[in-house]
Amino acid sequence: MITRAECARRDAVDPLRSFRDEFRLPEGVVYLDGNSLGALPRRTPGRVREMVEREWGEGLIRSWNTAGWYDLPRGLGDRLGPLVGAAEGQIVVCDSTSINLFKVLAAALRLRPGRRTVICDADSFPTDLYIAQGLDGVTPRAIDPAELADHLDSEVAAVLLSHVDYRTGRLYDMAAITELAHRHGALMIWDLCHTAGALPLALDDCEVDFAVGCTYKYLNGGPGSPAFLYAASRHHDAAQPLTGWFGHADPFAFDPTYTPATGIGRFLVGTPPLLSYAGLQASLDIWEKVDLHELRRKSQSLTGLFIELTPGLDLAGPQDPALRGSQVSFRHPNGYPIVQALIDRGVIGDFRTPDIMRFGFAPLYLSHTDVWDAAAALTDVLTTEAWRAPRYTERSTVT
Ligand SMILES: *Cc1c(COP(=O)(O)O)cnc(C)c1O
Repeated sequence: MITRAECARRDAVDPLRSFRDEFRLPEGVVYLDGNSLGALPRRTPGRVREMVEREWGEGLIRSWNTAGWYDLPRGLGDRLGPLVGAAEGQIVVCDSTSINLFKVLAAALRLRPGRRTVICDADSFPTDLYIAQGLDGVTPRAIDPAELADHLDSEVAAVLLSHVDYRTGRLYDMAAITELAHRHGALMIWDLCHTAGALPLALDDCEVDFAVGCTYKYLNGGPGSPAFLYAASRHHDAAQPLTGWFGHADPFAFDPTYTPATGIGRFLVGTPPLLSYAGLQASLDIWEKVDLHELRRKSQSLTGLFIELTPGLDLAGPQDPALRGSQVSFRHPNGYPIVQALIDRGVIGDFRTPDIMRFGFAPLYLSHTDVWDAAAALTDVLTTEAWRAPRYTERSTVT
């Protein structure tokens, strides 16, 4: 089996190795949960402090203009564009992924009058299913994405899928699936929560209709940082039902009648929670320097190494690195206490019901030696059965 020294040699030639210094990670921790809450960039506290003390404290209301607050939802959207393969003017950063899902699903349904079915992945992250279930007059159809072709008929308005499955880490073929949906007259909506910042994306080239995603996972925007919404330019005359004043053509005209903004702005709703934008401003300063193809290569190297170093475990996702996002999941009937025992040893992963041990590999701040250490800890917890200690079975609210 590969040695720790060989991992150190791989780290020495890693083109992304200098990015680790951009992040503040606690001593003795191998953080394998950057797919759930990204690590803290060193530059973020300073940026948040600047927004609070200078822009708010001194600039006060003037900062809407002088500090560029008003332009942040569109401006950060344009800065995100290259990370997801979107030309300017098609992304806004706002609200949560769940709310943005509501907006794009409703807009898609209005673009396909007469069609009332929305296809979702039955194993999808539940909020995607819940939002589809909550829309008036919609028939959500939860399916196995492998059988998508069998479900596409003239009733289907939209297909909503996660590009990377949050449990197993399986990566779907965005170009092929989008093309398949279009061939049947349906619009394609991608949830990019587990893709943005994990691998390169090509939304424009794949002719995706709408996409949503969050910025607090791989993108390191901070807990609860705002989500993003992509709408292809050709859909900018679509109506979305959350017609708030920030989506108005001229919010400061205070016109009693709603007139939607032209362009992506009509997908905005209300006043952005600005303090949570500061973290994303800081993390995008880092992301703008990342070569996403190198990121993908390193991600595949790290996930492949972790699988190689943990033989005998029941891999929940694909063996083929081309079909894998930036995470590795194993099924184990005692997954919950095993993950707790690992966290106790400084290896932070997470657990997803019913039996998934999930490990995310954020290539900007993880090294091959980290992966080696994490695999050694996992092997040790399993061989010594340390996870059997009663304290590891108590469940917290957030798993
Ligand atoms: C994390 C995640 C979300 C989160 O939605 P919020 O509205 O930000 O809570 C949605 N979809 C997927 C696939 C996710 O992984």
